[in-house]
Amino acid sequence: MQLNTILNRVEYFKSFVYGKAKWVDDADRPTIEVNIEPRKNGRPICSGCDQPAPGYDRLPARRFEFVPVWGIAVYFIYAMRRVECPSCGVKVEQVPWCDGKNQLTTTYRWFLAGWGRRLSWKEVAGAFHTTWQNVFRSVKHAVSWGLAHRDMEGIQAIGVDEIQWQRGHKYLTLVYQIDEDCRRLLWVGKDRTAKTLLRFFRMLGKERSARLRFVCSDMWKPYLKVIVKKAGQAVHVLDRFHIMAKMNKAIDEVRAGEAKRLEEDGYEPLLKHSRWCLLKREENLTEKQAVKLSELLQYNLQSVRSRLIREDFQRFWEYTYPACAAKFLDEWCTRTMRSKIEPMKKVAKTLRRHRDLILNWFRAEGAISAGIVEGLNNKAKLSMRKAYGFRTVKAIEIALYHQLGALPEPEFTHEFW
Ligand SMILES: [Zn+2]
Repeated sequence: MQLNTILNRVEYFKSFVYGKAKWVDDADRPTIEVNIEPRKNGRPICSGCDQPAPGYDRLPARRFEFVPVWGIAVYFIYAMRRVECPSCGVKVEQVPWCDGKNQLTTTYRWFLAGWGRRLSWKEVAGAFHTTWQNVFRSVKHAVSWGLAHRDMEGIQAIGVDEIQWQRGHKYLTLVYQIDEDCRRLLWVGKDRTAKTLLRFFRMLGKERSARLRFVCSDMWKPYLKVIVKKAGQAVHVLDRFHIMAKMNKAIDEVRAGEAKRLEEDGYEPLLKHSRWCLLKREENLTEKQAVKLSELLQYNLQSVRSRLIREDFQRFWEYTYPACAAKFLDEWCTRTMRSKIEPMKKVAKTLRRHRDLILNWFRAEGAISAGIVEGLNNKAKLSMRKAYGFRTVKAIEIALYHQLGALPEPEFTHEFW
């Protein structure tokens, strides 16, 4: 069987034929070059207007990298024709395996992008003897194709979240679709200002925004304001994950302050290594952490009391009726206000202030599942780590869309990856 037979099976071109294949002798790794020629009587297509046009001349032969096989690099060799197009003038022809000035064939780019979803871009570059830049550009190409071809109809529930991408308050705003049957990243934007989120709604468009039924977010003021303005008809739910995260942050603050005070008073460092045993829920504690917690429980520590206040609050999520939940919330806030623990009192004040939006959790009647935003948020953090070392906003944005956007891909006759 000849190489042409395989190539025609996996990548067939109507107007071009594969010619001779040969080894390249002086390459630094095993390399095959395959000639491509236009079919006889096949008219070149103008790259300006996609129409057949009379030939003009031919450029010197170029190399186009294809998917490697058995550790052998594969290149197509082809001399591009130029056309004299009646509407565009003299233009380079369009070829089906590549677009523009790219040195990588389109199939190879999709191949690299496909692996770039499974491995870090650095690992992909290493595995296929190519550069990080090539992998990055391939992923970028896959993302822009996917964004241009995705279906944006039928979005009913969205979740707005922020993620820190660099130290020093550098944030990105992420908007997810969180419908039962479709969960994906819809949009990424720099910063977390009102303007950022307004840009999302502009992208979504007035009509689609008006059809949203649920919007889930944290208590970040600029977001709250924009959501009221742009999707006022939707039930706005303060997300459970964000509320509990706020409480954990408060516990952390209490612990840090108390640890410092204890040390100053000359007590043994009782609260050392206690962070996770205070923050984690009972059932998630390791044995060591559980022992530490039972030790701490013997003392009347603010840290421990804060933890109990949070555990008490977990009951809130188990209510079915908004009225009962409201009663519990009010009582919890009163109890917490009496605790004399400042950071926890602050949480109680915040919850009081956003009482209605929090109770919307119950009005949404389970349309928004508990862990959804948290799950997506964790995946987003993981994707960011995978693009490590290249912390430009653009690279992170592309990595996030690629991993979480559930973007469509064109159909290929052969599956290369
Ligand atoms: Zn043309």
